[in-house]
Amino acid sequence: MKIDIIEMTPTKAQFAITDTNPAFANALRRTIISDVPKMALDNVEFHLGPIMDEKGVAFESVSPLFDEVVAHRLGLIPVPTNLETFNFRAKCTCNGEGCPSCTVMYSLNKKGPCTVYSGDLEPIGDPKFRVKDDLIPIVKLADDQALLIYATAELGTGKQHAKWQAALGAGYRYFAKIEIEGSKCDLGGSCVRVCPKGVLAKEDRKIVAKHPEKCNLCNSCIEVCDAGVIKVTGDPSKILFRFETDGSLSAKEVLSRGLKILEERFEGLREQISSLED
Ligand SMILES: [Zn+2]
Repeated sequence: MKIDIIEMTPTKAQFAITDTNPAFANALRRTIISDVPKMALDNVEFHLGPIMDEKGVAFESVSPLFDEVVAHRLGLIPVPTNLETFNFRAKCTCNGEGCPSCTVMYSLNKKGPCTVYSGDLEPIGDPKFRVKDDLIPIVKLADDQALLIYATAELGTGKQHAKWQAALGAGYRYFAKIEIEGSKCDLGGSCVRVCPKGVLAKEDRKIVAKHPEKCNLCNSCIEVCDAGVIKVTGDPSKILFRFETDGSLSAKEVLSRGLKILEERFEGLREQISSLED
């Protein structure tokens, strides 16, 4: 099996795997979606009763949205995650009570009229946990309205809730094998014009597949070819894999953690097999 990285940015990965099969690609896809953990806000406490500002003016602790909706929106904000230092809260040495190894606390204190953004969440303690996407709108506050919130983030997986899903839009497709029977081709060129990805080109009085890696197997070229000389098939041993992240983890971290989880799972299986008597 061979991997060729086509694109690797902090939030996006695209790579080709050769000498593989769809079962492996799908195992990787499912693992990075549902098993790679990340931090997300899970417990949100709303201050009830009047909120005073510095001048002693009282604001009502309400917003136009139900508290549940605000809490849900806060839960979906990408929270910076360090998988090396954080434990799952239930498995932490604090026995789930919450400590710096499993929990990050945030506060939010805003008074209307204003729009509350994700960037208004202030980490209590280390500023490195400040939310990177600071312009995600949460709620608009009117005059005299205010929000005072304390929230805690903890590790979870996509299996529990989509807010803990580390990889987004994870998917793969086969590389295309494009065959053109040149002798019967009438060189009309309609296949070149119809291809939405610019895969085909007319060169030296024949049609060639210039960028087969861009082909998404849409079959438009086959439909438009009057001579019926184009054959496009997917190659299940060469797979183009791509996914994005919400910024909580880098794409590289998600990929390497996903592969590690798969490795551990098979290792556990191997140990069980080796303990069997012959
Ligand atoms: Zn803990």
